[in-house]
Formats: sequence, C-alpha cells, structure tokens
Amino acid sequence: MSLPTKHHQHRFHSPVALSIAGSDSSGGAGIQADLRHFQYFDVFGTTAITAITAQNGAGVQAVELMPAAMVQAQLQSVLSGMPVAAAKTGMLGNHDIITAVAQTWQSMNQQRQTQGLAPIPLVLDPVMVATSGAALLQSDATQCLLECLLPQATVVTPNLPELAALTGSPLTNAHEKRQAAEQLLQRGCQAVLMKDGHGDGQQIDDVLLTTQGEFHFGYPRLEGEFHGTGCATAASICAGLALGNDLHTTVEQALNHLHERLPLARASLCSDLRYLP
Ligand code: PLP
Repeated sequence: MSLPTKHHQHRFHSPVALSIAGSDSSGGAGIQADLRHFQYFDVFGTTAITAITAQNGAGVQAVELMPAAMVQAQLQSVLSGMPVAAAKTGMLGNHDIITAVAQTWQSMNQQRQTQGLAPIPLVLDPVMVATSGAALLQSDATQCLLECLLPQATVVTPNLPELAALTGSPLTNAHEKRQAAEQLLQRGCQAVLMKDGHGDGQQIDDVLLTTQGEFHFGYPRLEGEFHGTGCATAASICAGLALGNDLHTTVEQALNHLHERLPLARASLCSDLRYLP
C-alpha cells in the first residue's frame, strides 16, 4: 500500500478523519452518526463500512457483515488516497474483520515509521451491544479485539457494560472500575475513557485514565435512553485528534459537544429511544 505524498496532502483544506464502522439504517448511530459529528467539527469524513444493519428505534431487524477482504480493500483505498489524520473504529462484528483492520493498521503505521512519520491516532469504541440489546460483536471476537487492536489505540472508549465485558470485572464500585481501566492500559492502549452514561446517580462522572493520571468530566444525568451517544463521543474525539488537539482537550470538547446535543434528542416513531441529532 502506498501512502499519500506531502504534495497531495496539501490539496485538502479540512483534516481528514476515517470511520471504520457499521451502517445504521435509522441514522442514529454507526457510520451515519460518525459522519454527522465529523461535520460538526469541520473534519472531512471517510469510511470503511464493516456491516450493514437494518434497524429502527424498536431494535435491530437484520445484520449483514462485510467480508473482511472488502473491509481491508476500503481501508487500503482510503489510506493510500487520502491524508487521514485520525481514525475511529465502531462496530467491527467478528474476528476476521478485527484481524483485517488490525493488520492493515499495523502495516500502515510501520510504513509511516520508515518515512519518519508518527502513527495515525486511533480511537477504539468497543461496540458490543446495541442500545436495543442486539449483539453487534460476536462473543468469540472479544479476545481478538483485546489482543490485536487495543494495543494500537490512542484511546479506548468503553461504557460500563463494555468495560465489564472486556475485563470480566463486575464493576461494583469505583475501585473495581479503576482497576478494570488500568487492566486495559496494561494491555497497551495509551488511554481509557470510562463513560458513565449507563451508571447511576444525578451526576455523570466520565473518567479519562492515561499514564499521566486520571481526569474527571462531570455532567448532569438526563432521563431516558439515547441512541448514538457512543458513536458521537468517539467520532468527536477522532475529529479533535484529526485537528491536532491534545487528548485531554479533545476529550473535553467531545464530551461538551455530546452534552450540548443530548437535550435536542427526539424519540423515534416506534419507541422511547431518543435519537441524537
Ligand atoms: N454501530 C452501529 C452500526 C449500531 O447499530 C450501534 C447501535 O445500535 C452502535 C454502533 C452503537 O451505538 P451507541 O452509540 O448507541 O452505543
């Protein structure tokens, strides 16, 4: 795979971000949400589609995973033709797709290294289950996510159920949450953003854990179930990293953006699930 030259990179005025994720036919999450949030930050969005889902507010009616070779082909086309400044992964579906993404990412960054270029930042949103309850990652693929892709991530953004599934921890108290996040750091990612949206209490306490320390971001908790919040957060962080911001600033701006939009969410026609604009 050849990488774009410096000369060609100057043709793009906005930084380019890449979403590696599934399509949500209802537009609330997945690729559709990622492109919307890239746009808010004035970042040019590119995609590698991993899956097509048929869904609405009532649930996920059908899922078709892309062949891993097709995911790889999309990645190679985008990475060799566009000056990608940051990427995010969402729904990856199965072991083969995760392996294809991880191998392509690793060889691309190795190639960059030989040219004296820094690795491209990668935001890993460990999408496992839809808000409606449908499985979006095959259960035997979790280990592969942990072993192949997580060590390449700039930041991993689990919600509490995802953090529990990735670490096998019951997360019954703050100490267990902290230990679980540290377990992910030890696996080689640079930072973990523990999202508290599925927690309880009047205040949301999102925690960013890096090797430099622990940073808390507090917001009032709103009533109701929201669709697309995980994608909005990860895509906004990806946009901030594409713009060249440091991780702390990027996470703060992404969470502020999410919490500004939450009150604007509207229920779907077939359930109380609220869609983030
Ligand atoms: N990606 C796709 C394709 C989805 O369908 C969903 C949820 O339904 C998600 C990601 C995760 O969405 P959320 O941001 O609500 O966690």
